[in-house]
Amino acid sequence: MDYDEVLERFDPVLGLEVHVELSTRTKMFCGCPNAFGGEPNTHVCPTCLGLPGALPVVNGSAVESAIRIGLGLNCEIAGWCRFARKNYFYPDMPKNFQTSQYDEPIAFDGYLDVELGDGETVRVGIERAHMEEDTGKSLHVGGATGRIHGADYSLLDYNRAGVPLIEIVTKPITGAGRRAPEVARAYVSALRDLLRAMGVSDVRMDQGSLRCDANVSLSPKGDEVFGTRSETKNVNSLRSVERAVRYEMTRQASLLSRGAQVVQETRHFQEADGTTSAGRPKETSEDYRYFPEPDLVPIAPSSAWIEELRSTLPELPWERRRRIQQDWQLTDEELRDLVNTGAADVVAATVDAGAPVDDARSWWVQFLTEQANSRGVDLADLPVTPGQVARVIALIGEGTLTNKLGREVVLGVLAGEGDPDEVIASRGLEVVSDDSALTAAIDEALAAQPDVVEKIRGGKVQAAGAIVGAVMKATQGQADAKRVRELILQRCGAE
Ligand SMILES: [Zn+2]
Repeated sequence: MDYDEVLERFDPVLGLEVHVELSTRTKMFCGCPNAFGGEPNTHVCPTCLGLPGALPVVNGSAVESAIRIGLGLNCEIAGWCRFARKNYFYPDMPKNFQTSQYDEPIAFDGYLDVELGDGETVRVGIERAHMEEDTGKSLHVGGATGRIHGADYSLLDYNRAGVPLIEIVTKPITGAGRRAPEVARAYVSALRDLLRAMGVSDVRMDQGSLRCDANVSLSPKGDEVFGTRSETKNVNSLRSVERAVRYEMTRQASLLSRGAQVVQETRHFQEADGTTSAGRPKETSEDYRYFPEPDLVPIAPSSAWIEELRSTLPELPWERRRRIQQDWQLTDEELRDLVNTGAADVVAATVDAGAPVDDARSWWVQFLTEQANSRGVDLADLPVTPGQVARVIALIGEGTLTNKLGREVVLGVLAGEGDPDEVIASRGLEVVSDDSALTAAIDEALAAQPDVVEKIRGGKVQAAGAIVGAVMKATQGQADAKRVRELILQRCGAE
């Protein structure tokens, strides 16, 4: 069914659940290191392997992060809350239950203001943010899809078991209409910016440290009753969030319009063709037999502690954007370009590292955005830091590099050749500023174009451009064009 037709007949309702892995030093309930990857089953102990008699202890800094996230999302923080056991069997979860929170989340009833591409702001309600632990990872070997169906055998790695997670759940998002897929993407993007600014997680969707489940249902146009929803699991890029929501809207609309039912189930998103496929029927919370965790004491943050944590909140991304706009005197449109290319934060960091605003902007919005696009990654994930970009800008400013050489240096940094200064040394990229080296090239160029020399002598100094071009070519772009021009004019007696 075509998208316009979907919207003529139905209103979409979204619910987004985001799991974020905290970047604490240790796991949620034991002292094992919390680090991505590693040799399988080396970051484990009796507690996170669920061995008999092992007892959990809550990670205090994970609780701090949970409270800060709640505050950043304008939530109320519970004065008293508990953990709960969510009971189910899965091989990647050796305890046979997940320690989570159920009816007593640490943070609840907040909102996040989300800016869309055209500058319109949508307020997304936050139902809750609760603490839990991650599961291990299963690796299904031998099948075509990497899923368990068709696999010959499965391997288990418990390094991730017990890694602290915060699950952030929105209230139903209604009224987005046509823009529902865009709202979903913008919400996840804004949430990621917020969590990154707080320094609570490295928010790498490609490594699974931020994962989004997208619930989608349709109501007949003008009907307040929500339809049956599907839940597309672990969508792992911003673009995929948008595509998955749009696909589900279209799929459900075609089912409903031919009188069929939407099944309440989890679904998998296929990157390759942008479709979803059926997973398992969705359990209800009764199926999990939640009960309060008897091995952990309740969490009762004092209001003094909450206020202390509130004072550690960084300048939030949207506050920073407003300040940037004022400080840098950007129009709404210029600011939006900066935000839409994902460049606002990196440009700000480059300015903080000493670069002029205009230079920082043009490097990130033009050259580096092209590099990110051609590599298919987000700007912020390019392997070059704002500090390195600021260094290149400074070297251009002082005449050590030309713009062209500066771009080559950055390409070297992106290729993993080290810091800008290391790339300059190893690639031999410094500007030829030694006049005697330039003079030889200039004299050669002048001798080759006597007619141009005549014109310059006759007062047409703009004709010098042809000689500058020849010299730049002869020095393979490593000359300072401004200095070359000065020397040409001197030698032709036109100064
Ligand atoms: Zn452990």
